[in-house]
Amino acid sequence: MDRRIKERTDHQFPRTLCLTAAALWSWACAPAVREQGAGQPSPVAATDAARNDSLRLDSLRAERSKLALADSLRVDSLRVASERADSLRASKMNALAEARRDSASAADQRRARAVRDSVSGARIPLPPSPTAPAENVRRAGDLRVCGGGDITLGTNMDTTWAITASRRPPGAPVAALPPPGALLAPLRAVFGDADVALVNVEGAIGEGSVQPKCGPGSTACFAMRQPVAAADALRSLLPTGVVVGNVANNHAGDAGLAGFDSTLAHLTRSGVIVTGVDTLASPVTVDGYTVGVLGFAVSPRRPDARDLAAVRRHVRRAKSRYGRVIVTVHMGAEGAAAQRTRSADESYYKENRGNPVAFAEAAVGAGASLVIGHGPHVLRAIEWRDSSLVAYSLGNLVTHGPFVNREPLNRGAVLCATITAQGTVIDAELRPTVQRRAGQVGVDRSSRALVLIDSLSRLDFPRTGARISKDGRVGRVPEVMRLRPPR
Ligand SMILES: [Zn+2]
Repeated sequence: MDRRIKERTDHQFPRTLCLTAAALWSWACAPAVREQGAGQPSPVAATDAARNDSLRLDSLRAERSKLALADSLRVDSLRVASERADSLRASKMNALAEARRDSASAADQRRARAVRDSVSGARIPLPPSPTAPAENVRRAGDLRVCGGGDITLGTNMDTTWAITASRRPPGAPVAALPPPGALLAPLRAVFGDADVALVNVEGAIGEGSVQPKCGPGSTACFAMRQPVAAADALRSLLPTGVVVGNVANNHAGDAGLAGFDSTLAHLTRSGVIVTGVDTLASPVTVDGYTVGVLGFAVSPRRPDARDLAAVRRHVRRAKSRYGRVIVTVHMGAEGAAAQRTRSADESYYKENRGNPVAFAEAAVGAGASLVIGHGPHVLRAIEWRDSSLVAYSLGNLVTHGPFVNREPLNRGAVLCATITAQGTVIDAELRPTVQRRAGQVGVDRSSRALVLIDSLSRLDFPRTGARISKDGRVGRVPEVMRLRPPR
């Protein structure tokens, strides 16, 4: 009810006074009489009162209509103003988006030229590091993981490769079996801030006689068994944290079944956590916080990266048990011609080396936070998949043995990333390495690995590939570019 009408009808006069002065004040008394419900006014007074009431109600209705009209006009005027402001805002946004698109398109063209230059060997400038977002502050439960590619610390089954390597420029002798700890020493600072160091143990560990893996006169067969001291050397990579060694690869079994068992025994004795032996994740616990680590390879004797249903099953089980999962995988074709990553089966010497993109999709889809690839012996793209990160190949880290050490096979990288308790990857960073001669690794001051990974990520995953800044920060494609329709 209108407030003013109610105020009028709510006048309260004493009933006796109303009855005696009904003709004069009937308009005021009638409601009071009606409301008190006792006695009846005279017929004349009641008629006058009703007429007066009716007139006043009409006048109030008219007044109300005027107010409603004024309100309506005011609302209309506000709506028009608001619509005008919205329209102005929208046109400003469109103009801004247009300007950004133009600028992004020009930047794209420059970038595409730069990528082409980079792949043909020229340097491209990397973007500056983005300011670290506030959510990258480390919280309880976060685990800092640094992963690297292939490590082989010599082979005691065939040392003839060292004679050939000694003849290459600059011609200085290459020791076949230097102390493994000395080979890894330059990397301790690179892994220094990690809770967990994860590397691929590309070769058996042991000593003594062994059934040869390679037949006489074979040219495409390499057998590698590292000296026993390699296990302690691997453990010393990160004295303040946990070292995890993956044995799901094509060389940990080079010394046969007994050699594989001795590899596991030496690593375990040295305190290295082994992964990739079977389909159960290896739990890695730091300060009471755990992550499950699974290793895959393209082999029926190891958890097979080509069996995607099994990959999903194993990762899902590890995720449900440990809450977050890291996957390390040895797959893909090898060599300088194998730098690109596509969603297709790859092969090497007629062996099916799996589809790395399909593998990553299966592993991340089942809950893996981080996928660290190796096997191609070259660097490959890095890709963000929502809150998970996939490094398709981190290349050679330390390969002291019968390996080619030319560009780009001499470049490697250590990927450090923080995984939150919820399994989200934050604060990822690449640390570039280079092997100047066989096994002589160091930090790459030229940051060539960063340029390569940035270029390959742009080429192979235009929307999801990582953007690497000049100080190694692993960023994402700007949103304005991700949302653009494909060309
Ligand atoms: Zn391999």
